[in-house]
Amino acid sequence: MARIFSGIQPSGELHIGNYLGAVKNWVALQGTAESFFCIVDYHAIVVAYDPALLRQRRRDMALGLLAAGLDPDRCTVFVQSDVPEHTELAWIFNTVTPVGELERQTQFKDKAQKQESVSAGLLNYPILQAADILLYLADRVPVGDDQLQHLELSRVIARRWNAQFSSDGDYFPEPQPLLTPTRRIMGLDGQAKMSKSMGNTIGLLESPEEIWAKLRPAVTDPKRIKRTDPGTPEVCNIYHLHKAFSAADTVTHVATQCTTAGWGCVDCKRVLADSIETELVPIRARAESLRREPGRIDDALATAARRCRDIAQETMRVVRDRMGFA
Ligand code: SF4
Repeated sequence: MARIFSGIQPSGELHIGNYLGAVKNWVALQGTAESFFCIVDYHAIVVAYDPALLRQRRRDMALGLLAAGLDPDRCTVFVQSDVPEHTELAWIFNTVTPVGELERQTQFKDKAQKQESVSAGLLNYPILQAADILLYLADRVPVGDDQLQHLELSRVIARRWNAQFSSDGDYFPEPQPLLTPTRRIMGLDGQAKMSKSMGNTIGLLESPEEIWAKLRPAVTDPKRIKRTDPGTPEVCNIYHLHKAFSAADTVTHVATQCTTAGWGCVDCKRVLADSIETELVPIRARAESLRREPGRIDDALATAARRCRDIAQETMRVVRDRMGFA
């Protein structure tokens, strides 16, 4: 059976961007392969952060993932820092990775520009990602296209370590991408990828009233100024959200109404709000149930951590042995 690994930062409550961009796909994949979904809290500390907030956000993310439909009986949802072998393997991979390859990573260059002081952790971030994946010998990684470069580096690291320390066959698999169908969700400002730090998101657990308050003023086709102007759905973020949330016949209807000025953008957004509501009702219900019984989250994370540590310890036993530590 294939083994899948993917991770998400503990950014707090899930929003529809990371739901559509990753988590919805994870829910569909669980059970099709042995699946590991990780809350990557060590990745979250490469820039300045508040420890109390990290603790809360890790918890909120665990609740969000379970509410979104990840089922602890069909997949393993765990917290990275519960398995110390992630950082041990990352250190080992540091020693087979040239600094130049890390400096060429597009995400590093983008993020480093925004920091006053760049930590070694930010530079080494993709090495920890490689360790996350390879610790579980995962061969499939659901990713968006913005993560393909990092995944390629994971393959290079696996290949290089295998060449040096695995002469009797490749111990680490070279993980392949499983591209997520809905890859990139723009924020309600229509300017940038949906992201909590940009303040352009809709939270997965927000109420219908809160969602409508955000959706109503959201940016649409900038050339559609008057109600009677025909619009161009493909340039409108609301249309793309319809494609993610609405039924196929509704999407067709939206395109027709838009291009013929048959309705205004507020009408269009009301239909979208209904479609979002249909998707979010069961998620909110599961979240409520988990809030009433928070011990279920603790139990799920503790069981998952034990399972992950068993696998991780076996991987590190082999790694230590082949590298001369045992
Ligand atoms: Fe966008 Fe809908 Fe307005 Fe067309 S009618 S511009 S798809 S919000």
